[in-house]
Amino acid sequence: MKNLIFIGPPGAGKGTQAERIAERFGIPAISTGAIFRANVKGKTELGRQVEAIMAAGGYVPDELTNALVRDRLAQPDCAVGFLLDGYPRTVGQVHALDTFLAEGERPLETALELIVDEDAMVARLLARAADQGRADDNEETIRERMAIYRAETAPLTAIYAEQGKLRQVDGMGDIDEITERIATALADLAG
Ligand code: ADP
Repeated sequence: MKNLIFIGPPGAGKGTQAERIAERFGIPAISTGAIFRANVKGKTELGRQVEAIMAAGGYVPDELTNALVRDRLAQPDCAVGFLLDGYPRTVGQVHALDTFLAEGERPLETALELIVDEDAMVARLLARAADQGRADDNEETIRERMAIYRAETAPLTAIYAEQGKLRQVDGMGDIDEITERIATALADLAG
């Protein structure tokens, strides 16, 4: 069973790489950000609750995020494993995830961190803003997301390092090359 999470700052390419690696491993890639965006677009009750928070670059409250992930991990396609992209992002979410996984007797195997240069990420997100028009891709919001990442999410890597689950990969450079680096870093989990 391959139970994985990807950690990295906004713009690090987690989404792209998570899709590619999940496909190779035959497991679902689960992006909390993408699920929230779909709910905003579909004007669901959850979407209404998170829209303003996301547009400002803040984190959705743990209660909402944890409930969403718990439901998603209970879907049958997660029985073979999963790759969570963008969750957990807070210490509270780390503990919630541990609880969900303990319920299913399927511990987390690996937390993969993409190591990137922050200034390059800001530039990349600004470019994406022009390209995709995401509501949270403007300079002020990008800076806010980076600051929250540093304060709330970067510390999670120490937790996973202590558990011996952290693997770090250089996330700068060519997209295909980065995919290969990640695949190499996870090669012992394949099969
Ligand atoms: P990025 O990696 O650029 O921040 P995401 O698509 O992963 O993009 O997330 C977009 C937004 O969705 C976040 O800024 C946040 O508002 C919300 N979000 C996603 N995942 C979480 C989470 N685990 N906890 C709280 N908020 C989240």
